[in-house]
Amino acid sequence: MTQGRTAGEAPDLLNLSPTGRLEGTVPFSVGGRWREAASGATFETYAPGTGRLIGRVADAGEDDLELAVEAARSVAPAWAAMAVAERAELITELGRRVAENAEALGMIDAIDNGSPLTAMTADAVKGANSLKLAGLLGYELKGHTYPISGRSLHYTTLEPWGVVARIIAFNHPTLFACARLAPALAAGNVVILKPSELAPLGALAMAGLASDIFPPGVLSVLTGGPGLGRAIAAHPVIRRLSFTGSVATGLAVMRETAESGVIKSVTYELGGKNPIIVFPDADLDAAARAVVRGMNFTRVQGQSCGSTSRLLVHRDVHRQVVDLVVELAGAIRIGLPTDPATEMGSLINIGSQERCTRMVGAAVGEGARLVLGGTPPADPELEGGAYFLPTVLDDVPVGAEVSREEVFGPVLSVTPWSSEDEAIDQANALRFGLTASVWTADIDAALRSVQRLEAGYIWVNDVETRYLTVPFGGWKDSGAGLEQGLDEVLSFTRMKSVNVTIAPQ
Ligand code: NAD
Repeated sequence: MTQGRTAGEAPDLLNLSPTGRLEGTVPFSVGGRWREAASGATFETYAPGTGRLIGRVADAGEDDLELAVEAARSVAPAWAAMAVAERAELITELGRRVAENAEALGMIDAIDNGSPLTAMTADAVKGANSLKLAGLLGYELKGHTYPISGRSLHYTTLEPWGVVARIIAFNHPTLFACARLAPALAAGNVVILKPSELAPLGALAMAGLASDIFPPGVLSVLTGGPGLGRAIAAHPVIRRLSFTGSVATGLAVMRETAESGVIKSVTYELGGKNPIIVFPDADLDAAARAVVRGMNFTRVQGQSCGSTSRLLVHRDVHRQVVDLVVELAGAIRIGLPTDPATEMGSLINIGSQERCTRMVGAAVGEGARLVLGGTPPADPELEGGAYFLPTVLDDVPVGAEVSREEVFGPVLSVTPWSSEDEAIDQANALRFGLTASVWTADIDAALRSVQRLEAGYIWVNDVETRYLTVPFGGWKDSGAGLEQGLDEVLSFTRMKSVNVTIAPQ
């Protein structure tokens, strides 16, 4: 059982147990100081794997945001002026603490978000690595000189935006909190982070570890729902914002930032409905394993923007690949998220489970064949949670809803093709363009496909893995801007061009 607390103390989340209840109100961090909402508002956070109430979390409003902005504003010049080595040491120290507490953070996410403990612990390690990398990437902030005029010195500098904000999705709570924070800090910005109200605890635990690392005001983690998101998007002082979430909310953020009356730079990391294309000459065993891995049935129950949830497979090998996929996906161990043996946990909430049920039913109505899953599991131990079985829909007609729209759950749709043109046309037919995977032994076919695919992140004979320094970003409605590595650090800088005339005439 976790102890009760008053505002002023960091919440003791690292000892959260699968059955523990948080007493009182879990506060948020305003620049490293722990507070409850000025309005006294709270919201409930549940354990999706059991349906149990974990506790109440302070629900930040505009007054609380104002405090965070003021705290951030007052420290921004000092943070920007700090030597890179000093800033790097503080960011890296947070990375070290996150790594040391990876299991506890993994348990918090498993309880609060429903994904398996092993996957969420691995997420925390990745978050720690992002922090450690970002600290060092601060050294890569450079300008250029331009010997263009013969009479002046022309050069550029890269400078931070000042107070920036990051609004993030629910599916990787601790990983996103760490990884999305790190590049902005490394570029010399001070940050206001809003985790999802569906899984707020991982970000708060990370903020607890950061409390005594950064100067007051450098990092605020404010908890709340869409109202807080809107207030952040509309705040005139926050000119640089990065948003991770659905396309619909991304469009809302676009409107909100426009209505703020100030011009903002916004990065959008949005949804995906990503193809995995299997050619007839591919290593079919490896391809089938990749289909299962790329779907992210394990780790996040399909709730990943990058999941390759559309299998486009050549007719000649269609049956064989689908049989292998069904066998592999059917063997996945579904269980309580907090059990270390669990491979696949719970969806984020019952609403998501209902969406899966509805979309599978609609797909069958449109002519798809349900060959695996399609329902919540029958296991009585899992009854209170938001579980859904690994699901495969075969022969999904081109244009069916389930092959066009994100399910954001463990539902794979399979459509066969006969010609390369047909495969690429189907892959590119949607509004999304986040990831794609191509499986073939023919390098020409692979490179032709890569050239024609409208997606921002592509694998050939691989899937799912994201590499720390390789830029990641969506095309079309999947987003605008880049994350990861140096590109993300640079995106949190503004360029200043300077022209110094040496001997004015
Ligand atoms: P969501 O869009 O419902 O919410 C995302 C965040 O936006 C939350 O913090 C939420 O509180 C906030 N929000 C809600 N309404 C807002 C508003 N009007 N203004 C400002 N903020 C608002 O998304 P979700 O359900 O948390 O996450 C799932 C979605 O995120 C999927 O579409 C998924 O593909 C996408 N996603 C994309 C990436 C990527 O890197 N491209 C990564 C993870 C998730």
